[in-house]
Amino acid sequence: MGERKHAVVIGGSMAGLLAARVLSDRYERVTLIDRDTFPAKGEQRRGVPQGVHSHALLYSGRRVLDRFFPGFSQDAFAVGAVPGDVGRDSRWFFEGGNLARCDSGLEGLLISRPMLEGLVRERVLAIRNLSALQDCVVESLETSADKKRVTGVRTPKESIAADLVLDATGRGSHAPAWLESLGYSKAEEERVEVAIGYTTRLFRRCEQDLNGDGAVVTPPTPEGRRGGVMLAQEGLRWTVTLIAYFGNYAPLELDGFIEFARTLPARDIYDVISKAEPIGEAHSARFPASVRRRYEKLENFPDGFCVFGDAICSFNPIYGQGMSAAALQAAALDESFQAGFSARDFFRRASKVVDSPWSIAVGSDLRIPETVGPRSKGVDFINWYMAKLHKAAHRDPVASAAFLKVANLVAPPPSVMHPKIALRVLMGNLRG
Ligand SMILES: Cc1cc2nc3c(=O)[nH]c(=O)nc-3n(C[C@H](O)[C@H](O)[C@H](O)COP(=O)(O)OP(=O)(O)OC[C@H]3O[C@@H](n4cnc5c(N)ncnc54)[C@H](O)[C@@H]3O)c2cc1C
Repeated sequence: MGERKHAVVIGGSMAGLLAARVLSDRYERVTLIDRDTFPAKGEQRRGVPQGVHSHALLYSGRRVLDRFFPGFSQDAFAVGAVPGDVGRDSRWFFEGGNLARCDSGLEGLLISRPMLEGLVRERVLAIRNLSALQDCVVESLETSADKKRVTGVRTPKESIAADLVLDATGRGSHAPAWLESLGYSKAEEERVEVAIGYTTRLFRRCEQDLNGDGAVVTPPTPEGRRGGVMLAQEGLRWTVTLIAYFGNYAPLELDGFIEFARTLPARDIYDVISKAEPIGEAHSARFPASVRRRYEKLENFPDGFCVFGDAICSFNPIYGQGMSAAALQAAALDESFQAGFSARDFFRRASKVVDSPWSIAVGSDLRIPETVGPRSKGVDFINWYMAKLHKAAHRDPVASAAFLKVANLVAPPPSVMHPKIALRVLMGNLRG
């Protein structure tokens, strides 16, 4: 175990902020470095271009935020975040129908990504032993002469010494290249090609829209390959993201956007946005593939270095998992420190955290025939079972809640196959 004087976190987005919060309890001081200048809370910034798109915070993620930042949800509601039970106040459309309403106990927090990140940043920057270096690009790692220990980072202006450097620079992380240049092997990389296209627009929200429901989730089907989400957020707005796999993406221009919404499996989004007042311009993004880097499998890894967040695993965003997976990794980092911390120990814990969201995202993506990725033996059976579960859940609130707990990463995926749920799935399908 090295000294615990100074930790440097590269990347001040959701993952870096959460990691910095954990490290501030374990190191005398923490420096958070980002290439951006942090804007006012709620404002979009360049380093996180995905911030203009709808971002769902899962219940698992919200729980971790409230643990590390007591009263966080109240702060969010004070700036206009929208509350609601994920099962009672949302519309989830699967297999030709909405899931039955249920009191799931999963309390949602609907808020824009820039506002959520801004609130977390405000809390993190107030930590006594933490300072931030903004507008500062980390170019490379500094190491000991034998390259066995990372001793700091190099920026265009200076070298900064650290006992731990944590890379939270997202999907485009240079950690694989940095490690290779130091003579270490690259982490094995798993890729699942999905060629997703996102188009997002904001609309004015009326309280009576959808009888007060706060969210609509209409996932793409293997037949249509297009779906959408519409989420309430602060400022009485809807954020609407229309999604397609493998081409035929939703257009930016308003009429085409609304027309695309009309072709989705469910009409809710179309019904609202065809009458609502649009706000501002549309934005689009392409997401080629989910990527998982298997740092936990590396035999050799330098001391004093760690990788975190999307830099370990970036998921197809339609499942809304990335920020919550980062939050769960922060909890795993904290546990790793309780156990003495080594990067190897953290990577093992992080890998367990990532297993569930990865299997949910990849398993579901493999229903789309064009998806390219390793196909596990059981995946067709699981997808068949999930379709039956969703059908049963049209009428059965217990089946509906069981699914939503898995989707929110508070229950493991096999929990939907528990005999009690499997029986309900069987009975629900027999009843038609
Ligand atoms: C279109 C889209 C929609 C999404 N929707 C959702 C959603 O609904 N729900 C959800 O939970 N997640 C969603 N995600 C994922 C989510 O945005 C990320 O999981 C989340 O931001 C955590 O990522 P991160 O902090 O690891 O990296 P990022 O958010 O990518 O941040 C990386 C940070 O590192 C900084 N940086 C990079 N390189 C350097 C450098 N060399 N020096 C200094 N600073 C550097 C950047 O400025 C940035 O601040 C979505 C992603 C996309 C692309």
